Amino acid sequence: MTGAPHALLRLDDAVRPAWCGDGLFLPDLQLPQWRAPGTARAELLAPGGGRVALLRRGDDGGWTAHPDLQQAAAALLHEDRIQPRRPPHWRMGDLYQQIPGRLRFAARRMLANRQWSADEFPRWPLDGAMDALRHLLSLAGEDRLARLAWPEGKRWVLALTHDLDTPQSYSAALRMVRAEARLGMRSTCFMVGRHLREDDGGARSLRDWGAEIGLHGADHGHGTPFETPDTIGAALDELGPVIGRLEIRGFRAPSLLTTGALFAALAGRFEYDSSTPSSDRGGVAAPVRGCGTVFPFWRREGVLELPPSLPLDDTLRLRGSGAAQAMAFWEELMERIAARGGLAVLTNHPEPHLSGDPRWLEAYEEFLRRLSRRADVWISPLAGIARWVKQNAGE
Ligand SMILES: [Zn+2]
Repeated sequence: MTGAPHALLRLDDAVRPAWCGDGLFLPDLQLPQWRAPGTARAELLAPGGGRVALLRRGDDGGWTAHPDLQQAAAALLHEDRIQPRRPPHWRMGDLYQQIPGRLRFAARRMLANRQWSADEFPRWPLDGAMDALRHLLSLAGEDRLARLAWPEGKRWVLALTHDLDTPQSYSAALRMVRAEARLGMRSTCFMVGRHLREDDGGARSLRDWGAEIGLHGADHGHGTPFETPDTIGAALDELGPVIGRLEIRGFRAPSLLTTGALFAALAGRFEYDSSTPSSDRGGVAAPVRGCGTVFPFWRREGVLELPPSLPLDDTLRLRGSGAAQAMAFWEELMERIAARGGLAVLTNHPEPHLSGDPRWLEAYEEFLRRLSRRADVWISPLAGIARWVKQNAGE
């Protein structure tokens, strides 16, 4: 275990979700002792040796959670522990995207030589402790989104999403969306506002094949999230006509680079956000980050978060993964998310140097064919999932 000291989550069998194994580590939540009637069924063992009860069962059979637990869980979900800084190339703005993808990728690979610490919270590629914590809160009636029933009795949910950073990705994106449509699936394509304003023909073709269009930033620059909420909001409002025309409901931050100012600007403008990864390594915002959950959650700013819960294609390629290997890895993780009844959000880039590569396109189409044979999953664009969550969370 590296980084900050970790606390161990201990669960009685009575409260342990079926999918959940041992060795659930969290950052030390530093909760005060909580004395109350009833038997403790879950505890946090602090690095210093202290233990704090997290959940008690009363004589009436009802569950009560530690009074500070919800807030402590929210701090983890909101990644309060990381403070993104402007990356060194932010002044380049969108010019950065004009550097050929292969060169940008080579530069990132050189920067990613930092040790890959899978054990830091949230564990990579899939954390268990955060969802175990949310399960405890849901027993106490303090987290409705951690235990949602999905439509038609489906066991789990999958969103296929594509980030279209540059217009060079449009033709491969169309090929993906057509392959999905032939199998009765629909996905979400996140597109850059500036590109849409110049020409939304590409977006209209994708919509004709059933894709939802989401906004991938007003521009793809890495400086934007560090502006004030008003400045970010003004840039988004300038896109009003194109947002209306393409019925855009959701947002994904370029390079998943998020700040409080960005979320403040998204509130009231978008129905959902999908920018806070469940677990990520080597990203632009921080070397180790993530909300740790594979369930939706409400951000403090009032935006519904649908976390990208599977590692992105570029992360897997940085680790040296080939196309078939990446699909197998996603399928293995999807199986684990299915066991939780969670939300799998798959994200790829149809750029020529990433998932737009012919070998990756073919592997993706094979992956879709295997997926189409599953009966236990609801596959939906993110906007449909956001709508379902809002209608069924009883809030
Ligand atoms: Zn992007």
